[in-house]
Amino acid sequence: MLKIRDLDVFYGGIHALKRINFEINEGQIVTLIGSNGAGKTTILKVISGIVKQKNGQVFFQEEDISKLPSEKIVELGVIHVPEGRKIFTALNVEENLLMGAYLRKDKKEIQEDLENVYELFPRLKERRTQMGGTLSGGEQQMLAIGRAMMSKPKLLMLDEPSMGLAPIIVQEIYETIKKLNEERNLTVLLVEQNANLALQAAHYAYVIETGEIVLEGSGKELLGDDRVRKAYLGEE
Ligand code: ATP
Repeated sequence: MLKIRDLDVFYGGIHALKRINFEINEGQIVTLIGSNGAGKTTILKVISGIVKQKNGQVFFQEEDISKLPSEKIVELGVIHVPEGRKIFTALNVEENLLMGAYLRKDKKEIQEDLENVYELFPRLKERRTQMGGTLSGGEQQMLAIGRAMMSKPKLLMLDEPSMGLAPIIVQEIYETIKKLNEERNLTVLLVEQNANLALQAAHYAYVIETGEIVLEGSGKELLGDDRVRKAYLGEE
């Protein structure tokens, strides 16, 4: 579904991504793990068209999207939930969700999808008239995922969905991600510093260090890999 070929990105003199290659098959959860500053967010930004690469291409469903503007990439169904959620704090929950559907004209289906999101996250339904800024961190993450679902994603990209949240809420968010993947065949690209959870959820994973992919394998394989255990799972 998504292919990244020989991607190089520079921020001024910093070579942030170095010849990155990877693929995501339809229906998979794929994770990119790596420490702070490794280049994970930059990869998502290139796929979304927010950052432009120096070399290389991004193919989505066989189409080269590397030169498209970000709004066209959204229209194709590539939806990015950024780090820190970026919800609209002065809009209520339902208004935030409807912002996710702003490119759509199918009013009846939008209503159905809104109900689907409320089914997925009953807490959002309870809080539907509450301002986004008054929600807890976990609720804001649910809202950010719900808003992305309102854009009818084919590929959902999540940047650090577990960041700053209590473990029990993180579990809940991950259960939802797995449910969306299993029940709706949603393809997911997950960026995480929380390697343990991400590897448990992922069909396939890539480890990125200072702008390079240094290791790849199934989530299970990497959970058992000594280098991953030492560097990312906090084991001796
Ligand atoms: P994090 O977990 O902090 O988001 P990351 O793995 O996602 O880390 P990136 O944010 O992609 O890493 O950053 C990769 C490298 O590029 C880092 O060295 C970072 O300092 C640098 N970088 C990122 N954004 C910019 C920018 N706008 N200008 C200059 N350098 C940047």
